[in-house]
Amino acid sequence: MTTAVIIVAAGRGSRMGGEVPKQWQMLAGKPVIAHTLAAFAGMQVVLVIHPDDMARAEGLGVPLVEGGASRDASVLAGLRALEGTGVQKVLIHDGARPLVTRGLIDRLVAALDAQDAAAPALPVTDALWRGDDGLVAGTVDRAGLYRAQTPQAFRLAPILAAHLAHPGGAADDVEVARAAGLDVAIVEGEETNLKLTFPGDFARAEAILKGRDMDVRLGNGYDVHAFCEGDHVWLCGVKVPHGRGLLGHSDADVGMHALTDAIYGALAEGDIGRHFPPTDPQWKGAASHIFLAHAIALARSRGYELGNCDVTLVCERPKIGPHATAMQAELARIMGVDAGRVSVKATTSERLGFTGREEGIAALATATLVKA
Ligand code: MG
Repeated sequence: MTTAVIIVAAGRGSRMGGEVPKQWQMLAGKPVIAHTLAAFAGMQVVLVIHPDDMARAEGLGVPLVEGGASRDASVLAGLRALEGTGVQKVLIHDGARPLVTRGLIDRLVAALDAQDAAAPALPVTDALWRGDDGLVAGTVDRAGLYRAQTPQAFRLAPILAAHLAHPGGAADDVEVARAAGLDVAIVEGEETNLKLTFPGDFARAEAILKGRDMDVRLGNGYDVHAFCEGDHVWLCGVKVPHGRGLLGHSDADVGMHALTDAIYGALAEGDIGRHFPPTDPQWKGAASHIFLAHAIALARSRGYELGNCDVTLVCERPKIGPHATAMQAELARIMGVDAGRVSVKATTSERLGFTGREEGIAALATATLVKA
């Protein structure tokens, strides 16, 4: 069955204050209505707006319908726009509820398979009082009371008929539906499905959006350097005495290179070679901490912090264990993070392959970056 969404955004929002109606005010960098539309991405939408807001609504990329003088009239205008289009189910949603989730939307659409109407609500859990002149004048039994939300879901034909028959002045579409004798199923709503009404609601909504926006990135890196003549190797920033050296354009710190590439990878920023071309003589013999410091600074410039990283060195010799704590501390120092976020460990390859034959050292690294 074809489902469409009517988003009602024609109100003037007098309780919010400000010169711009609340659905057009900015929330986390874009208008409230843009968040609301994003919640229904991929669905057929009709946006009902006030005639004065036509210029604001251009560019939103959805069909626009001019609302009427009341909420009822605006909903009716939206329903009429869907009449005869083949749409059979309709969700009617307040534009000022931008945090509705796809989970709730899907539950409501599914409920229409068995019902003519379904709407989200949450049971009242606070005690309810009646007040008079600043004094408590009595308590109200909260048993069986719900806080109603939108979207409210209906089959199109019955809700259109119900609106046409209704005298007007309804609080919401459930009231209209019930007046026409439709049964409305209660679907569990969501605490986060706020209706932006007062100025303080914007701060709550932004906090909820920030929590949803958690951005965690993962990158991996792999590097190999061959042994050459020498008496030490640099591994994860630590000079380790060894009967050979490592061959490379820079100091050949294979572990730090793998870690640096992991961070670039998490940022989708290529690898060390992109940022420090080996053809550029200024990087010949460079200390690898320059590369690692650059990668972590790039991450921070994009708003990320290191979540954790894990480096594995693959070699028969030198033995890494005695140096692992110093390596962990040095990588943490270069990146400016707690050592508890940095792991350095090692394995042999059971004398198999090039590392087993002690022709070189390989290193693997993984890093996560978290939007700070
Ligand atoms: Mg390398």
